[in-house]
Amino acid sequence: MKNVILSCLVIFFSCFTTLTAQKRPKNVIFLIGDGMGIAQIYTGMVANGNKLNIERCTYSGFSKTYSANKFTTDSGAGGTALACGVKTNNGMVGMSADSLPVQSILELSNHNKLSTGIVVACAVTHATPASFIAHQVNRDMSDEIAADYLKTNIDVFIGGGRKYFENRVDGRNLTNELKAKNYQVAYNLADVMAIETGKLAGLLYDDQNPGMPERGSMLPDATVAAIGILSTNKKGFFLMVEGSQIDWAGHDRNALQLVKEMLDFDKTVGCALDFAKKDGNTLVIITSDHETGGLVLLDGKFGSDSLKTVFLSKEHTGVPVPVFTYGPGADNFSGFMENTSFKSKLEKLLKLKK
Ligand SMILES: [Zn+2]
Repeated sequence: MKNVILSCLVIFFSCFTTLTAQKRPKNVIFLIGDGMGIAQIYTGMVANGNKLNIERCTYSGFSKTYSANKFTTDSGAGGTALACGVKTNNGMVGMSADSLPVQSILELSNHNKLSTGIVVACAVTHATPASFIAHQVNRDMSDEIAADYLKTNIDVFIGGGRKYFENRVDGRNLTNELKAKNYQVAYNLADVMAIETGKLAGLLYDDQNPGMPERGSMLPDATVAAIGILSTNKKGFFLMVEGSQIDWAGHDRNALQLVKEMLDFDKTVGCALDFAKKDGNTLVIITSDHETGGLVLLDGKFGSDSLKTVFLSKEHTGVPVPVFTYGPGADNFSGFMENTSFKSKLEKLLKLKK
């Protein structure tokens, strides 16, 4: 009898362990550091005294970044791979290589009644956010990309790019159209942070957001505000956040600016991880679309920004980028993976129906 009870207990506990190991996320926060390779992360970590919030992640891997037509991707094809699960040609957003629109993970989440959001440190029409919401053959079609926001039911989007909504070649005023669709439109961070529920379009700058330190705490604060609004949906949410200007510092070969942008992004990562830890049902993914600048860190001093760095390029490079994950489902993102694999993994984890 004792043995029977013991066996039952063993079976119960092994089932329990299997169930907890397979726990699915309800919410996903997908953070993209544009142009962020492992050297960019470590440069930020060294300058920050040998610590970053990214280290709180429990799993890590590598994402292969090549596009459909180039070994070295741009942010359009890179973002489209992450968002839509297809390799496309450089310059395209939300389109397959044969110029057909492809549904993004954000749009699919929305279709499944999850709340959705985008928070970026650049214009909301820029290549990475555009890959999640728009379908255009050229990433520079900013007016068309802005108009694509109106075709969706995205709940929250915050960044720059006001002029593409209000000062357009076709004369449309998309802000008025957003208001007619029940969006609250905010032009500054204080107004964004005062909104706790409903739909929100935060158009904080006329064109691109300024860099750090001029941007202040826009990215982490707007991310916290977006999480607050999106988490009111009991069905869950999908939020994409981009540290957009790590890439720009790489193009400029500016290591000091890179550290500032890297630490701003990591602070934002910390906000996402704090929410995920408290919530228990949120998967946090941190990755990049490509590396920028071919950064090499030759020497450094912990806690100091006196770094010996070399940028081998002014452009993007073709090396894989790191992936870090935390929360339920995090174990699905370890080892080497294609940048096109995120969408299908998230579809399964969130049980999204087409
Ligand atoms: Zn770039």
